[in-house]
Amino acid sequence: KAKESGKNDCMLYSESWSNSSFERLKLQHEMYRAIQRNEFVLHYQPQYDLVSGKMVGVEALVRWKHPVRGLLSPGAFIPLAEESGMIVQIGDWVLREACRQNKEWQDAGLPPMPVSVNLSIRQFLQHDLASRIAEVLQTTGLEPKYLDLEITESMTIDIGHISRCLLAITDLGVGISVDDFGTGYSSFHYLKNFPIDRLKIDRSFVRDIQQDPSDAEIVAAIIAMAHNLNIQVIAEGVETEGQMEFLRKHQCDEMQGYFWSPPVPSENIAQMLKAG
Ligand code: C2E
Ligand code: MG
Ligand code: MG
Ligand code: MG
Repeated sequence: KAKESGKNDCMLYSESWSNSSFERLKLQHEMYRAIQRNEFVLHYQPQYDLVSGKMVGVEALVRWKHPVRGLLSPGAFIPLAEESGMIVQIGDWVLREACRQNKEWQDAGLPPMPVSVNLSIRQFLQHDLASRIAEVLQTTGLEPKYLDLEITESMTIDIGHISRCLLAITDLGVGISVDDFGTGYSSFHYLKNFPIDRLKIDRSFVRDIQQDPSDAEIVAAIIAMAHNLNIQVIAEGVETEGQMEFLRKHQCDEMQGYFWSPPVPSENIAQMLKAG
């Protein structure tokens, strides 16, 4: 009896340490089965045109319906998936599901708009990324112009390789956005070397846009520079009307954030699209 409860205590103990190596190993193991068991799900966050106020796109954000822990947000498992390499399989699933869902909305007669999908650096290390994307578009029947891929600035492992990869992807007609712009160490490098259609201003700059004069200057400068380079700008993490007004005044193109909508299940998006 004593032995048994000791064992339980031990398990409880490690359960509370979600970063312990035991927990990580367990989660990693469960992740392997999660794809077959269909435990991943996509939520979508709408993106709005700042002038018309119309919904002009959605970003697909993965969640894990964990059988025991409930709905896990990407922060709870993506880093581990990156580390173990599982992000490649998860990323494949995300891409396919986002394209399938978008085509389904279109087939239901809803107004067509691009879906943005986050890519991990690991996916770029697959030499056949562009042909995989082409295959997904082919299989789902989604036109390439309705897919946008988000890359981050941490992806600078091999500029030459990534640059070739991105060119092959843009050749397909798929859009490229730089996510979390301004937080990496190579922001300008990206703009200079890669075929970028859009940049997403990281929400850390948007947050204090009204209180912090340097953040305001930085955001205004990013927008102006991007436009001079023929690159569209979307602001992330817009939570207040004041932030939105600032962005509008500085001619930011689009916005995404809790002010209008958090990420929501696909059914909610269908309803929003129907409502116009
Ligand atoms: P991200 O791509 O920069 O996505 C935006 C994140 O900001 C989302 O968090 C979203 O819920 C959150 N957000 C949106 N509006 C607001 C706001 O107004 N205020 C605040 N405080 N937060 C806001 P989420 O869904 O937890 O995703 C976190 C990150 O996980 C993403 O950041 C992305 O880097 C990564 N991620 C999500 N899905 C995928 C995926 O399918 N593949 C890969 N490789 N990464 C993914
Ligand atoms: Mg993103
Ligand atoms: Mg982002
Ligand atoms: Mg972010």
